[in-house]
Amino acid sequence: MTQVAEPRSSGAPAPAGGTGAGSAIGHIHHWIGGQIVEGASGRRGPVYDPATGKIAREVDFATADEVGAAVAAAKAAFPGWRATSLSKRTDIMFKIRNLVEARRKELAAHLTAEHGKVPSDALGEIARGLENLEFATGVPNLLKGNFSEQVSTGVDVYQIRQPLGVVAGITPFNFPAMVPMWMFANAIACGNTFVLKPSEKDPSASMFLAELLHEAGVPDGVFNVVHGDKVAVDAILDHPDIAAVSFVGSTPIARYIYETGTKNGKRVQALGGAKNHMIVLPDADISMAADAAVSAGYGSAGERCMAIATIVAVGSVADPLVAAIKERLPKINIGPGTDPAAEMGPLVTKQHRDKVASYLDSGPAQGATVVADGREHPLYKESEGFFLGASLIDYVSTEMDAYRDEIFGPVLTVIRVDTYDEAVRLVNDNPYGNGTAIFTRDGGAARQFQFEVQAGMVGINVPIPVPVAYYSFGGWKSSLFGDLHMYGPEGIQFYTRAKIVTSRWPDPGTSKIDLGFPRTR
Ligand code: NAD
Repeated sequence: MTQVAEPRSSGAPAPAGGTGAGSAIGHIHHWIGGQIVEGASGRRGPVYDPATGKIAREVDFATADEVGAAVAAAKAAFPGWRATSLSKRTDIMFKIRNLVEARRKELAAHLTAEHGKVPSDALGEIARGLENLEFATGVPNLLKGNFSEQVSTGVDVYQIRQPLGVVAGITPFNFPAMVPMWMFANAIACGNTFVLKPSEKDPSASMFLAELLHEAGVPDGVFNVVHGDKVAVDAILDHPDIAAVSFVGSTPIARYIYETGTKNGKRVQALGGAKNHMIVLPDADISMAADAAVSAGYGSAGERCMAIATIVAVGSVADPLVAAIKERLPKINIGPGTDPAAEMGPLVTKQHRDKVASYLDSGPAQGATVVADGREHPLYKESEGFFLGASLIDYVSTEMDAYRDEIFGPVLTVIRVDTYDEAVRLVNDNPYGNGTAIFTRDGGAARQFQFEVQAGMVGINVPIPVPVAYYSFGGWKSSLFGDLHMYGPEGIQFYTRAKIVTSRWPDPGTSKIDLGFPRTR
């Protein structure tokens, strides 16, 4: 492991051109103890520009020793950071917030360059991340304990919440800025130190954030970034000095992280994949429902864990709704993020794009009807980038692959059912339970849905009900392993533990030995 540069000089390669330190193409290293540190093993992964299909840079893959170095830096920084006053920590959180806001366009450029999302979507992601930084500036209020005076004669009891120590975050490719902010904002505001293992597919945003945190005055070692694959993840899960792990990603990996992390005695919250249903009742406003379905189905090329994947069309609404969605699809402007008019970009890798496109074959082979085939889009045929046009599959049923799998791309499926009860049963029988939505003009039906649906986040005429930062984010069933949701109040709970103090200040001369169990009455 070699330190290669002073902070702020070249942590995150320039998004265009990608000429980072030490290599002909950009080369992304780790961030440990406030410094850029080059991986020593030589293991690296490619980082693509999804709009061109070319390898734009490479990222170091950490060894267990390199993860260990990051944990050691975080452990060394912990005593000083947890002792830093709440007002100083708040001041730093404000500074981070202001720097991210001021430099959001540069951050967005990293997202476009490596994830492929268009600038408007990248800026939207950052805006939602900023909400978490804003929430964390309220940490003095959020960490207030409570106090019970005179629980017995001259005895008081109070609860304080203290940080856990070194905590880690493992994040997915689809929100390379927002999901790390979901985690580290509350974690460090509460006094923990942090090791981030971002997705190896789009790692530059985390390096840029590390530089901003450094500039904001976060002490060295409080925030560290190690890149890599399963080797780095397993080193985090096995490390005895890591107290807690927050994970966001696919369900099989979430389950693995939860089982391994908790077996090793860590506190774990592991958010998994999704299959989000949007029920449209016959009384819904068709135009509003079709606009919502298109925004929520194809925004960010469908690579959102809260994307609508399946429309459940109830009764007579199906034909006009499918027609209204179909009519809107050719108007979606698909292109690279460098095109200011583009509304939807490419998918993250060729492998993923091809898997997503494969449902346009398996769907009809299993009896569904392809209404719009994204492979007909010129960019799918002619570009080297990982583009796929907006696709729509109708007459899907629950045993088909297009329904059973999380497609995670711009392929929206429609299931037709006869009744509301059938629609809700379908949602509740699905193994995932992240988000769901209902579109109706009937308040009673909406309330009944909110009451009985098995999902963690529910939208009523709102297709992507991502909670604001002062609530918490989490799904049910296979969409979340662990009991605390992410960010917001439950995030504060996750990153702190309670200490209950029972205190007595006796008058001199009143002390006596009592071998009985303490009683308050
Ligand atoms: P992923 O599970 O492939 O990767 C997530 C993280 O786990 C990455 O950092 C990756 O390096 C690591 N990882 C991958 N394979 C691993 C392995 N075998 N062992 C150990 N670590 C491994 O997920 P992704 O493709 O990056 O992201 C998309 C998935 O994330 C989708 O399923 C999506 O629904 C989900 N997601 C969920 C939420 C949520 O809040 N529930 C939010 C965003 C994304």
